[in-house]
Amino acid sequence: MQRRQLLASVPALLTGTTALAQDEAAVRFGDPRRTLAPVRANPDRLIDMEVCTRPFRAQGPRIEAQRLHGKHVVHHYGHGGSGWSLSWGSARVALPLILEHKPKRIAVIGCGAIGLTTARVAQDAGLKVRIYCKERPPEVASSRATGIFTPDSRLVTTEHATPEFAHRWEAMTRSSFRTYQSLLGLPAEPVQWRDGYVLWDDVPQGPSHEPGEPDYPDLYSRIRDLRPRSMPLQPHEHPFKAAHAMKITQLVFNIGSYQRLLLDDFLRNGGEIVHREFTSTRELARLPEQTIVNCTGYGARALFGDDSLVPVRGQTARLIPQPEVDYLLFWRGHNLSMVPRGDGLLVQAQGEHDFGNADARVDRAQSVAAVERLAELFS
Ligand SMILES: Cc1cc2nc3c(=O)[nH]c(=O)nc-3n(C[C@H](O)[C@H](O)[C@H](O)COP(=O)(O)OP(=O)(O)OC[C@H]3O[C@@H](n4cnc5c(N)ncnc54)[C@H](O)[C@@H]3O)c2cc1C
Repeated sequence: MQRRQLLASVPALLTGTTALAQDEAAVRFGDPRRTLAPVRANPDRLIDMEVCTRPFRAQGPRIEAQRLHGKHVVHHYGHGGSGWSLSWGSARVALPLILEHKPKRIAVIGCGAIGLTTARVAQDAGLKVRIYCKERPPEVASSRATGIFTPDSRLVTTEHATPEFAHRWEAMTRSSFRTYQSLLGLPAEPVQWRDGYVLWDDVPQGPSHEPGEPDYPDLYSRIRDLRPRSMPLQPHEHPFKAAHAMKITQLVFNIGSYQRLLLDDFLRNGGEIVHREFTSTRELARLPEQTIVNCTGYGARALFGDDSLVPVRGQTARLIPQPEVDYLLFWRGHNLSMVPRGDGLLVQAQGEHDFGNADARVDRAQSVAAVERLAELFS
């Protein structure tokens, strides 16, 4: 190219570059019309379906100590639909009970969200920890959770949410939240912030209530400051076929990589895992450890005879991962959510009779229907 020709083309090039830069800026800086990659919501893309049981207690989690068969047993279970979210803070509430008799080593029964985080908190307090469990990740119920920060989900009934309970809950939630901020930006992103959309056909009048479930208190208003403010969107500001939409930002756990991180940290800190199923509490007497932390989740109902534990069934399904789908969806009134995780797009629809339901069998038709409902948003 001649020098004159080259110089003549520079302004055009510059103009082009500026236009391009403006377009990109429009996309990058808060334009709600940014292109969203559609979910390939087709039942043929289902790669997994699982059922998990939430260990719900009307009174909230049981965190108390008991002398049993000559051992100091600290109960730490019953976190309903909030186990992952509350785990760190709840473990810190249990810690003074664990330290009561100044043990050097302890046993933790259970390797789910609560057992693993309790074990890590105890290790950080200088204790040697051995976990006993009949299942370890990815076989535990915790591995089958959705993976969002929901510290007030099916945790306690309104009747039992006393001011003391709410105060303790807030402290646990803030403590967990702080720990989660320290787990951001790690390889395989065990924890990350994601944008998302809440959709409605009709704006709900008054608080929502799941049919067949008790009344749950509004605890969330105490921690409103922990989440970025949500933003109502106009119909032209989102691509979904729903009359109303709200943009939200949510803390998400990629449960697969997060559990792996917890296990690695536990083992690196000298932890041991022993495969063992307890069929009676009398078997605790034969353990070498004097302090035993009971983190058996819903298993505490059979092992410790705690009939206050109510199973709340939840079925999730995963669609083949789509890394380009980087937003969450909640479709209110259609009982549907979609959470993008590294191991797939997690689709969930609450069943009609899930409260009090311990049926762990997968109902394929339920997940297929949920995926087909999701597809309606993209048709
Ligand atoms: C569909 C669904 C979605 C959810 N989504 C979320 C979410 O997004 N965010 C959130 O915070 N929470 C969520 N939850 C709730 C969360 O999954 C639970 O609160 C949490 O898994 C409880 O953890 P856990 O450690 O107490 O129990 P578990 O994970 O069940 O662990 C119990 C451990 O105890 C062991 N055990 C039990 N009995 C015995 C025995 N007799 N002998 C030896 N070992 C025993 C088990 O093998 C296991 O290792 C969800 C739950 C469901 C069902």
